[in-house]
Amino acid sequence: MKLALVSAVALPALVSAHGLRDLHHARQQADQAAAASGSSSAAAPATSSAAAGSSVAPGSSAAPGTTAPAAATGATLTFTLASTNPTALPLSDIASGASTQPTVAASTTYAAGSTPTFLSGAPALPAISSIVVANYPTLDKTPPTDSAEVQQWKQEVANSGITIPDIDPTVAGGCAANPQAAADSSRCWWTCGGCTANADVVACPDKMTWGLTYDDGPALYTGDLLSYLDQQDLKATFFVVGSRAISYPALLQEEYMAQHQIAVHTWSHPEMTTLTNDQVIAELGWSRKIIKDVLGVTPTYWRPPYGDVDNRVRAIATAMGLQTSIWTRISASATFDTGDFNIAGGTTNSEQVLNNWHSIVNNATQINTGFIVLEHDLFQQTVDIAMDYILPDALAHQPPFKIEPIVSCLGKPLSDAYIETNDNKSNPIGASASGSSGSGSAQASGSSNSTGGSANNGAMGGFAAPSALAGVAFGVIAGALGLFL
Ligand SMILES: [Zn+2]
Repeated sequence: MKLALVSAVALPALVSAHGLRDLHHARQQADQAAAASGSSSAAAPATSSAAAGSSVAPGSSAAPGTTAPAAATGATLTFTLASTNPTALPLSDIASGASTQPTVAASTTYAAGSTPTFLSGAPALPAISSIVVANYPTLDKTPPTDSAEVQQWKQEVANSGITIPDIDPTVAGGCAANPQAAADSSRCWWTCGGCTANADVVACPDKMTWGLTYDDGPALYTGDLLSYLDQQDLKATFFVVGSRAISYPALLQEEYMAQHQIAVHTWSHPEMTTLTNDQVIAELGWSRKIIKDVLGVTPTYWRPPYGDVDNRVRAIATAMGLQTSIWTRISASATFDTGDFNIAGGTTNSEQVLNNWHSIVNNATQINTGFIVLEHDLFQQTVDIAMDYILPDALAHQPPFKIEPIVSCLGKPLSDAYIETNDNKSNPIGASASGSSGSGSAQASGSSNSTGGSANNGAMGGFAAPSALAGVAFGVIAGALGLFL
């Protein structure tokens, strides 16, 4: 079942992510057509027609001319939002094929040499003009492994002293295409069963604390999100795709200078367990390098695309100084994934995403740790639903959530998020040996991870009252989860 969903839905969704320019182009064409016919809704932000408690009629969110699956577009809100943004777009406008909204460019262009005074010991900001695109790999493709850079990073991994488990890459197609790997608990493959290692970051330790994260950017609408986060005095962790960073370096600098945490999300967004060791090194190395070249600092955290990580990939990441960070997962049908990624492709609608969000909130109040949610700043729709609905609802929640970047929710200073500013005391780089014996446990020395046990295959560790979970409506979230897992 999962395999079918992965191959039939998630992979086309990935393709659509990588076809961002095409999608944008298509949106522009649609917008132009709509404008020509006098029916564009892209102009003034409308007063919300989906105010708290309102319910949108089935099918009303489907943009004209789109053929999104009825099951996804037919979802209606099943709860009352605590608050919405006063300038929120109607939910029907946050949909596949939505009219293009004006974008907010980087609000401040930082001069080369600007100093990030909030980070003790941080180097001056590099000049964006010094980035020569031709010196980097092709965008959205796994980089070649025969370059001088990759040879250097291979040596770095070899020198780390960390043993990389000698297990084969998986083949494309997820769990059903890899029955042996899926059944091998020593591999600790998150995709198939949600296995986590002790060193994995999968939640914030403190109850009611939300580790706010956005993946796959920076992109066209990231500036809008940054502006909203600034208004609300919120900081987030941005898991940055290298191929986007090189396309939007000014936005990446703005994220960083606004004191958000910048972290790695690979160069081309592949399923990492399908890659060879050298390809994993190339994906992590090039994304780490472009971030360093744009910001002057090197992230110490990364998130595997789709959460696709096993002990081999974990060990390579650890050897490269990168802390594996996923998102909270209670069970196969209840991970803390809003499903926002799938709005743009038309395989879910914004009402369903808000229902998913509501389930996440309910589950968050049931568990005895904090939580981390999967959201994206890649698409206009994902940014709109975050700014207009999810964040206002979260900010109005009682009792209140504490909303922080991941590094902060772990009780660490922002300086730990980068190699150049990390004091190596509370965040010892390379100290966590991952999977060295194939035991399925990546032990981090001195780790204070309180969120789960070793090699948790769907375990309920960390939750206050597992019996109470039966009373939580997981079914609502399950539909969209299948789209992404
Ligand atoms: Zn991603």
